[in-house]
Amino acid sequence: MRTALIPALVCLLLASSVAPAQKPAQPLQAMPYSPSLDLTSLDRSVDPCTDFYRFTCGGWMKNNPIPADQARWDVYSKLANDNQQFLWGILEQDAKATNRTPNQQKIGDYFAACMDTSSIDKRGISPIQPDLSAIDKLQDRTALLSYLGQLSGRMMGTFFFNSGSAQDPGDSSQMIAEVGAGGLGLPDRDYYVKTDAKSEETRQKYLAYITKLLTLNGESSAQAATDATSILRIETTLAKASLTRVERRDPYKQFHKMTVVDLGKLNPSIDWSVYLHDQGSPAVTTLNVTQPDFQKTVNTVLSTEPLDALKAYLRFHVLTAAAPYLSEPFDNASFDFYSRYLRGTEQQPPRWKRCVRGVDRALGEALGEEFVSRTFTPATKQKTVLMTDQIEQAMQSEIQQLDWMSPATKEEALRKLHAVRNKIGYPDKWRDYSKLEIKPDDYFGNVLRASRFEDTRQWAKVGKPVDRTEWDMTPPTVNAYYNPQMNDVNFPAGVLQPPLYDPKSDDAPNYGNTGSTIGHELTHGFDDEGRQYDAQGNLKDWWTKDDAKNFEDRINCLRDQFAGYIIVDDIHINSKLTSGEDVADLGGTLIAYIAWKKAIEGQTPQSGDSKKTIDGFTPDQRFFVGFAQWACENTREANLRLQAVTDPHSPGFARINGIVTNMPEFAAAFSCKVGQPMVKAKACKVW
Ligand SMILES: [Zn+2]
Repeated sequence: MRTALIPALVCLLLASSVAPAQKPAQPLQAMPYSPSLDLTSLDRSVDPCTDFYRFTCGGWMKNNPIPADQARWDVYSKLANDNQQFLWGILEQDAKATNRTPNQQKIGDYFAACMDTSSIDKRGISPIQPDLSAIDKLQDRTALLSYLGQLSGRMMGTFFFNSGSAQDPGDSSQMIAEVGAGGLGLPDRDYYVKTDAKSEETRQKYLAYITKLLTLNGESSAQAATDATSILRIETTLAKASLTRVERRDPYKQFHKMTVVDLGKLNPSIDWSVYLHDQGSPAVTTLNVTQPDFQKTVNTVLSTEPLDALKAYLRFHVLTAAAPYLSEPFDNASFDFYSRYLRGTEQQPPRWKRCVRGVDRALGEALGEEFVSRTFTPATKQKTVLMTDQIEQAMQSEIQQLDWMSPATKEEALRKLHAVRNKIGYPDKWRDYSKLEIKPDDYFGNVLRASRFEDTRQWAKVGKPVDRTEWDMTPPTVNAYYNPQMNDVNFPAGVLQPPLYDPKSDDAPNYGNTGSTIGHELTHGFDDEGRQYDAQGNLKDWWTKDDAKNFEDRINCLRDQFAGYIIVDDIHINSKLTSGEDVADLGGTLIAYIAWKKAIEGQTPQSGDSKKTIDGFTPDQRFFVGFAQWACENTREANLRLQAVTDPHSPGFARINGIVTNMPEFAAAFSCKVGQPMVKAKACKVW
């Protein structure tokens, strides 16, 4: 991914500055325009050879303080906000219109029910009361264990572990059932095991949050405090048994296909055939158990923890998953802990924004169809498809020219590159939502039905061939991804809008910005994780030993460089976690540059902009400024701490400065000399 859902970057100076009170927002009738190379975003007082990120983004950082409802604010999230504000108008119309298509009825009614906070508040906790009562009535361990599958099949949330369908890592053409780790309420297992003062404080705040939800559910404060301690103890046991984020980047560590009978030996507390059936799985004899040792720990927890502790755990996980969709006291408690405390966000986003996001989550392709028809022109599709082809060709010629890669590995690498499926804008076939019932006056019911609809859709895939046309992001999303098992790159229409892709601009900033993103996603097929999959997406080693070592040495060069950057206080980038993204940034920017040079080869000052100086910038300078301006951002300090643990992307300043310092093409464009901060004595290389 180019960005995480909670992405990355730092401006410590601006981290605490927030926007002044703004006028209430209105739906946008058209998408606003800002150019892909924005002169107002520059800070010309900074020497580009000293700090290129500040030179290109200093103005943006000053002009774009973090809104009170955001944990971070960057070019991507600002565009995402514009997309949402535009969709808001469409949804308001669909909520009121009388002559609606079936999909317009669903998205309009979902939005209307979400906006109806007085009905939501009136219902209070009642939407989850049946589940809470069922938990209360569990008389013994046997009853609890057989109820677990039903609860997890019915409700949102994570209960001790997760399960679902997945592409078989050993045979990428097939979908199989999978049982994974889970069951935690904090964002990462590290939050439970670290012993520094901040982590201790976070666990105290978490205990207070658990206590708050349990008291809102009617428990006495003494009972709630006792239960909170039990819940944290259970989660800490699960956390200690979970793989770290860095370990999870090794796909072999999460590939353990076994029979259901053998899973039963790891964790005999659960009748797995019944459990899987309760989730909606077809009958299976084998499945992937991503973390076998974790299942042993789940068994210990389920067989040794007191019944009351297990019941409290289930109650809390029902409450915490449902809280954002319940009445105000629950919603606020969830916001106060997960957003205000953990991310530093000052205010809840306005209701309309939360409801647009909700429709996108529940009915993303129905909403996406409306978005695409209004914003994504055939000309943009054609041009971005062409750019993708050109960047693939640039990657091909780079691979062919590598002096350290053997012919055998090159052949496989090219086979893989040629097999990449390019998905641009939106799916060829829209998802069918006809079986999902959405009512105008039942918000929680809609959320739950949509969640079950998606679970049912996912479980129905088990035992069937993989559908390679499917997308994992909705069309309005401002992001992109590469999926190593599908071997495809996916660019939603939402990310191919100005200022990221600007149809009015000359080529240089577009290739620098969107071109580098395309190169980034393609390079993921060859980063330390992606390179372990073959052309069909099977987990299979196709590298010779020497080639693999040579490539790992190159990756280690970047790991060492990025480990030197500081995120906040004395917290450095965990470059073992960010390594895949850092490799993708460097490799992607280089091949975008090569593709751009090739694309403009025949142009003259008369026939194109590629030889002209515009606004004082040469074409090469415009390429690099365009590249850097995708990453302009401001982030709150609390959010930086969260990102340091959970985000596989480096902060924005490192994603720009850490890349250009390795590119002699950049030094030449700005006449930077060895000895200046933006020129490394010895550059790292991917290709
Ligand atoms: Zn990425």
